[in-house]
Formats: sequence, C-alpha cells, structure tokens
Amino acid sequence: MKLIKKTQNLLGRIPLKFSVWIYFMGFTVLVFVLLWLFQILFLEKFYSQSKIHDVDAAATQIIKSFDVDPKSEFSDKLAKIASENDLCIEVVDRYGRSLYTKEYSVGCIIHGKENGTYYYLKRITDNGNKPIWLKVNNPNNNCSTVLYGCSLGSQDFPSGYLLINTALVPVGSTVSIIKRQLMFITGILIVLAFFISLFVAKRIAKPIDSITEAAENLAKGDFNTKFDGRGFLEVKKLADTLTYAEKELSRVDTMQRDLIANVSHDLRTPLTMLKAYAEMIRDLSGDNPVKRNEHLEIIINETDRLSLMVNDILDLSKLESGKQKLTPSEFRIGEKLSEIISRFKGISEKMGYSIHFTPDEEKIVCCDVVKIEQVIYNLINNAINYTGEDKQVFVRQINRPDGIVIEIQDTGDGIEEDKIKLIFDKYYRSENHKREVVGTGLGLSIVKAVLKLHNYDYGVRSKLGEGSVFWFKISSKDVTDVQDAQ
Ligand code: ADP
Repeated sequence: MKLIKKTQNLLGRIPLKFSVWIYFMGFTVLVFVLLWLFQILFLEKFYSQSKIHDVDAAATQIIKSFDVDPKSEFSDKLAKIASENDLCIEVVDRYGRSLYTKEYSVGCIIHGKENGTYYYLKRITDNGNKPIWLKVNNPNNNCSTVLYGCSLGSQDFPSGYLLINTALVPVGSTVSIIKRQLMFITGILIVLAFFISLFVAKRIAKPIDSITEAAENLAKGDFNTKFDGRGFLEVKKLADTLTYAEKELSRVDTMQRDLIANVSHDLRTPLTMLKAYAEMIRDLSGDNPVKRNEHLEIIINETDRLSLMVNDILDLSKLESGKQKLTPSEFRIGEKLSEIISRFKGISEKMGYSIHFTPDEEKIVCCDVVKIEQVIYNLINNAINYTGEDKQVFVRQINRPDGIVIEIQDTGDGIEEDKIKLIFDKYYRSENHKREVVGTGLGLSIVKAVLKLHNYDYGVRSKLGEGSVFWFKISSKDVTDVQDAQ
C-alpha cells in the first residue's frame, strides 16, 4: 500500500512528457530484450525442430513418388527437395547400389569422408526395415546432424532404401550474419525510438501544457482566457469543460458584483433614512411625542428591512455551505399556511392587498417546519411585491396522490420564458424590478436551496401580462392523514 502511494507520489512529480518518453523507451528495450533472448536461447532448438520437420516432409514426398514418377522427373524432384531444404539425399536399390545422389548439405555423413551408406542401410535392415532417426555428430565439421533412413516399397521386400542427412545447427555464416544484422538494427532502432518517443511525448504534452497555462490565467481571474483544444479528443473535452467553467465563473462573478451593487444600494437607502430620522428626532421632533413616535416607527421599520436583508444573505450562505441539516417535525399544513398568511395581515390591510387561501383536506406533513415556512413566506412576499394593480394574491393547497402541491399565484406582469431559468439563481434580479421592492435577489435562491435539500419538486408557470404561479410539492412520503396520526 505504502509503496503504491510512494510510486503515485513520485509519478505525480514527473512531467507527462517524461513519463510518456520513459514508457516508450521501456517498451522498446523490452522488445529488444525479448528478441535477443529468443535469438540466443531458442534459435538452435527451433532450428533443429524445423529441420527434423523438413526431413520428415521430404521423406514422405519421396516415398510417395518412388517408382511412381518417371525416373528423370523423380531425379529432378529429389534435386529440388534437397536444394530447397539443404538436405543430402541418397536413394539406393535393394543391394545398396546408388540410384540417386543429391548432395546439398556441406560435408554430409552419407557421402563425406567416411562414406556410411552401408553402415546406415544395415541399421535399417536391423530395425526390420522400419524408418530410423539417428542423431549423429558430423566429424567433418563437429556439428550435430540428423540421419533419417527408411526402406522403399514394401517393408518385407524393399525395392530400395532412402537416406537423408542434414545439419541440426545453423551452419556457415548465417547465424553470425543474422546476429550482426540484429545488432545493427537494435542500434538504429534504439536511436530512432529515442528521438521518436521524445517527439511523441512532446506532442502529447504540448496541448496539456498550454491548457494548464491558460487555466492558470483563469485562476488569476482572467475570464477572457481562450482554451485551445487542438490535439486530442480528451484535450478538446477538457478545453470545452474549462470554457464552460470560465463562462459560469464569469457569470457568478458578474452576479456577485451586481449583488454588492444592489446590496449596497439597498442598504444605503434605509441607512440614510435611519440617519435622517435619528437627526430629526434629535434636532426637531424630540419634544413632540406624536412626531417623535412617527419618526421612531420609521426607524424601527427600516431596521427590520435591514435585518431581513442581512438574514437572507446569512441563510443562503449557510444553506449553500452544506452545513445546514434538516430537522423534520410533524405539523398541519393547512394550519401552517393560514398562520403564515395571517402574518401578512398588517401589510395587506394597510396597503390594500388581499390574499385568498383555498385549503384542501387537512394533512399532517413531516419536514423542516422553519425552512418550509421560509419558502412559503418568500413566495407570498414575492407575489405581493410583484402582483398587479388589483393587488390580489392566491394561495392554494392541492392534495394529490403523489404529494401536496402548494401554489402561490399573483396577477402581475409575469416572467419572460428565458428569465424563468434564471430567477432561481443566486443574486439574480430582473433589470426592471421595482426599486421600492426590498430584495437582494436571494429570496428564490433560498427557496430553491431548501426545496432541493428536501428533494421536493418545484417550478413556475407564468404568462406575460397575466401573472405567475410559483409551486412546490411536499412529496407523499412526508404526508400522513390527520386521523392516522392521532
Ligand atoms: P428579489 O425578490 O429579492 O429580487 P428573488 O430571488 O425573490 O429576489 O426573486 C428574483 C427575481 O425573480 C426578482 O427580482 C423578480 O424579477 C423575479 N420574481 C420573483 N417572484 C416573482 C413574481 N411573483 N412575479 C414576477 N417576477 C418575480
């Protein structure tokens, strides 16, 4: 385990260029080591086996043709077989008189200095005219050779005999030539492999290097960095992903700037008012209880607005940090909706808004009551802020088999199709949002974060000029009937 970690650590420090080069060179060396091993260790064994195979095949062919082919054709055939396979062939009649002699093996043991035809014929007859295979050392060149002998025609009354002899080790200069050639090729290929692998390694690493350089620029905050994906499919994918990340980062960056602009604008208004009214109380209305209370009331309202904004920012950052856990508890959903709506009573009476609630059969739901309250509160608050001149807001509870849908409808301008995707984004506020509407562009992001944490579906249906319906669904697994709960 430790060793693997150590190797991984080490590999992590080696540049790609170098690793590719090392692998390539390693492969080349391995190929040559194998080639040399086979050349040196197995060549002779392989050679002698294939020679024995050649002799066997030649014998079969000769036995088949003897006394069948016309004499001259048979002689030509023997010559061809002998020359092609480096064999020495002797065919004799039943008395041992030579019929055909083909010598293609240097210093063979049948025809060489110690002419052994009779000796080997005797070995065949001693063997009951069955084929013999002998491994004989050729005293002429001290090489191991194979001698094959068999009778021709019938085994009881042979019409002749066949003797074949060939060397079992590569003779002459063939081997040394091959070895020299191999050495030459090894040298050339190792030099070639060195340069080719260097070139390939550089080519592979180049696009990655350039993308890394570009990514470093992005990390420094340059959102106009271009990622060049030429080279390989993987690099292209990486470049596309980085371009996408850059776009997103740039968007978030712009939004964050906008937020700071919005928040500071929205904070400045109540702060200016706070200062102005505090000064007014100090300088003018301090002694006038009616005026003073009016001004103090404004100060209190503005402070509320301020803390609302600050709370929004804190809530969202907590939700998004992933540290917020759900604390589910059971409560009656219809009751909760009525309770939240009643909190808006003050403002609806003062400013002429009407909130209509259509409940369904009462159900017990089990979810994080504080957070779901905040969702409903934010949605109703938005509906009030953005509803039309008639100042109507509709809240509906709809029980369905797959859960309870809560709908909040307004009669405002509605939201354009392409903006719907954006409104749940952090810091997003439509450009034409009403300035008098206190908001940070965080309300719907909080809604989204809470509903996602619960795994509840949510969405908006909106028609330009007619208003919007924001909805979410408490899934059926969290819903129980009132009587079941009792
Ligand atoms: P805020 O209301 O503080 O601006 P939100 O996150 O609650 O922030 O809303 C984001 C944007 O979505 C708003 O600026 C507004 O443009 C749009 N929006 C939200 N609710 C409605 C609604 N009921 N009708 C029309 N537009 C809405």
